[in-house]
Amino acid sequence: MTTFTLWLPLPPKACSQNCHVNWRTARPQVAAYKDTCKKAFEATGWGKLPTPLTIHLEFYLARQPDYYWKCPKRYCRRRSVFAGKCPIHGATFTRKNRDTRYYPKDEGNARAAFKAGQDSMVEAGLLPDDHHRYLHDGRTTIYSTKAEHQGKCGLRVTLEVGIPVVTVVSTEAQTYDPARRRAA
Ligand SMILES: [Zn+2]
Repeated sequence: MTTFTLWLPLPPKACSQNCHVNWRTARPQVAAYKDTCKKAFEATGWGKLPTPLTIHLEFYLARQPDYYWKCPKRYCRRRSVFAGKCPIHGATFTRKNRDTRYYPKDEGNARAAFKAGQDSMVEAGLLPDDHHRYLHDGRTTIYSTKAEHQGKCGLRVTLEVGIPVVTVVSTEAQTYDPARRRAA
């Protein structure tokens, strides 16, 4: 079984369906993430991949601290890279968190947030144009606890050559036999 594995950064919150920020704010962030993914896919040098492919996503959700300094005065949007005083108010900048990564809570939303990244595979030349014919959804796994993510923060993408093997466990499906039903 041939697989291709790649680490990508977590998508930004703007990629999430649950994020209701203004599209003016969200769109450039989504575009930037798509571009990051495209460059990462290109850098692998995989070229055109054999199809069909199954894409497995593993979200490693170790929270990353990311800070900036902001003027505490109301209405002042002044930001600073370093701690110090606001040149207008003289107030001391306060530390604010600016972690824009998306930490998904359920698998459906997690996969949906990677839509932009998945689109970038076509742009990177890994897949032919019409990607939904060649790319199938595989497993989506979220590692949210410390024991699970082991301090890792990122998205591990595994591309498996072949279509997903779906095991249907349903008593209805197992007992249903058209021939027998007709006889009864
Ligand atoms: Zn200020």
